[in-house]
Amino acid sequence: MQKEMFELPKLPYPDSALEPHISARTISFHYGKHHQGYVTKSNKFVQGTEYAGMPIEDIIAKTASKPELASIFNNVAQVFNHTFFWNSMKPDGGGKPTDEVAQKIDEAFGSYEKFAEEFAAAAAGQFGSGWAWLAADKGKLVVVKTSNADNPLTQGMKPILTLDVWEHAYYLDYQNRRPDFVKAYLENLVNWDFVGKNLK
Ligand code: MN
Repeated sequence: MQKEMFELPKLPYPDSALEPHISARTISFHYGKHHQGYVTKSNKFVQGTEYAGMPIEDIIAKTASKPELASIFNNVAQVFNHTFFWNSMKPDGGGKPTDEVAQKIDEAFGSYEKFAEEFAAAAAGQFGSGWAWLAADKGKLVVVKTSNADNPLTQGMKPILTLDVWEHAYYLDYQNRRPDFVKAYLENLVNWDFVGKNLK
């Protein structure tokens, strides 16, 4: 059997590792069903097109904002976004960064507290489904929010950190309390090591 172009990557931690902030039950649906679904559909829609075999970032850039290519863009971007999201978290993460990362956050936002405030406002303020991001725009760190499957790559920015604010990311654990989910992420889950690697 030919290898599939897109595969569900292994989670970087056990499915219960982010409890009590994100339950194993949420991970089982979010990773096991939603992320897997985007992988399966990406293979289905990309197979046999000119995008087959391209790096995922290139497919995203080339199919963005083209209504006739929306089924490819939406699924492939969601594969990228979810893999990026799992890597944006770790058990016992969150809180203030240290060392070089702390310095870069302070330079860009004035302080960690100002960054956290801006990120939380973007995450809570995204109307409907979408994502909050820390991204590099021509080297400058910025907080952005995107709708549905969109991500900073479509605006020529480099993704650094992300939070999924689709309801499927938090509804089982927090119901309608998205701001509580955002707070738990910032205080307990952010993987600053991943941020540090993305800043290099
Ligand atoms: Mn999701």
